[in-house]
Amino acid sequence: MTDSQAMTATQNAIRVRFAPSPTGKLHVGGARTAIYNWAFARANDGVFILRIDDTDPTRSTEENTQIILRAMRWLGLDWDEGPDVGGPFGPYRQADRVARYKEAAEKLVEEGKAYYCFCTPEELEAGRKRAHEAKEEFQGYNGACRKLDPAEAKARVAAGEPHTIRIKVPEGRGDVVVDDAVHGQVTFNAKELDDFIIFRSDDTPTYNFATVVDDADMRITHVIRGDDHLSNTPRQVIVYEALKKPVPTFAHISMILGEDGKKLSKRHGATSVEEYQQESYESEAFVNYLALLGWSFDDKTTIIPRDVLAREFSLNRVSKNPATFDSKKLNWINEQYLLAMTDEEFAEKILGPQLVLAGKEEEGCISLRPEWFALLASVIKPRTKIAGDVVSLTEFLYKGDAPEIEEKAFNKMLAKESAKPSLVAALSALQTLEDKASGFYADAINDALAPLPEELDISRGAFYGAIRVALTGTLVSPPMGEMIELLGCKSTCARIEAALEKIETTA
Ligand code: GLU
Repeated sequence: MTDSQAMTATQNAIRVRFAPSPTGKLHVGGARTAIYNWAFARANDGVFILRIDDTDPTRSTEENTQIILRAMRWLGLDWDEGPDVGGPFGPYRQADRVARYKEAAEKLVEEGKAYYCFCTPEELEAGRKRAHEAKEEFQGYNGACRKLDPAEAKARVAAGEPHTIRIKVPEGRGDVVVDDAVHGQVTFNAKELDDFIIFRSDDTPTYNFATVVDDADMRITHVIRGDDHLSNTPRQVIVYEALKKPVPTFAHISMILGEDGKKLSKRHGATSVEEYQQESYESEAFVNYLALLGWSFDDKTTIIPRDVLAREFSLNRVSKNPATFDSKKLNWINEQYLLAMTDEEFAEKILGPQLVLAGKEEEGCISLRPEWFALLASVIKPRTKIAGDVVSLTEFLYKGDAPEIEEKAFNKMLAKESAKPSLVAALSALQTLEDKASGFYADAINDALAPLPEELDISRGAFYGAIRVALTGTLVSPPMGEMIELLGCKSTCARIEAALEKIETTA
């Protein structure tokens, strides 16, 4: 594409990229960087690019690339240009762009802005040691090959001599000042910048070079990334200047720390997006939580759905202080997203998929019994913290006609003398109710059972406790009327009869 075509394609739009290295899964910090880039693009009608930084062939894998793409899709972060979707500045995998980096590096050599370096690793090490021992202020590369005659250097390269390519930091360049959108003005001492390597002797580009060539080629206007890259920025500025390309705006976002104040790592629990997905967090809640880890909408809003984020995100509300990952807050936000669903939505999005996954229900179960599932949703939703909880919360439904009864529950509730009359009376009341035309619904069930403890002169606790244990085999259950309605008369009666039998045989 020519420059003028590219100009038309970009139309001065904001263009940002997320550039993960597929050396591992997408972790929480990377996900937050991706979210900020995506939201910044969306809020500004810009373009969001996904680029795979896989120049390190020993540590990058296709499997990790696929895991990252899947995680991005689960997070709902769609990209306008990148792998799978293509775009005008592709390819979008660095491994496919090595020839382009080589061409750019050779051009800099031609222009006298970079040079071949033949210093061996031993020579470089000796130089570093000397400078260190002499406590010299400048301990970087001494520029030995800078002075070589270019024609002679070229001949040595042609003869196959191992070499790297180094960029020339212009003499008298002065300090590099980066105007960071998060950190403000950051000044880097020019004395600490040596002529750094842009191409290694194994013919691979260094990160600082490949990144800048790509960011320039892809017309990136804002580089939003973790502040572990802030220290790379002055070198990247030198590369932009050598390439005669405009320097983008940088925004370096803070680290995410664990609750102990240390950098978030495996020790703190789940760190990859994939793990949160497997633990059945809501993707929108997860994005909401991560977005707030270092950015705020105002000083109080905690629920920011993805579409609001995509409208409201701005760099000037990004904090430069490290953020602390607080799983309790994440869980709370997740719960709010679940509670905000209607019963029908909860059935469709949470109950159905989770119960099918757990092998308890068949695909399409919701459409066969929508009302039953809506009732189940109304009972289970307030008790659900993450989607996967519904499997244990609904376990009582899938225990067959004679649930196994926990010993503790049996001893506490069914070993009492009052248990048998309670169950017999409940059984008869429920069967009578089933025969009536009014129907077997929670309210009617509660009404039918309510007078019985007094009639039997048994405490409510003992009466309902016996039914609960008979129906679930445990001491805890959802509210009685709803539970019995969900089980249906046939199963409820069968369970009560099985419990009565157990009482007989145990007596
Ligand atoms: N591949 C680099 C990383 O994952 C990208 C850094 C950048 O955004 O420049 O850290």
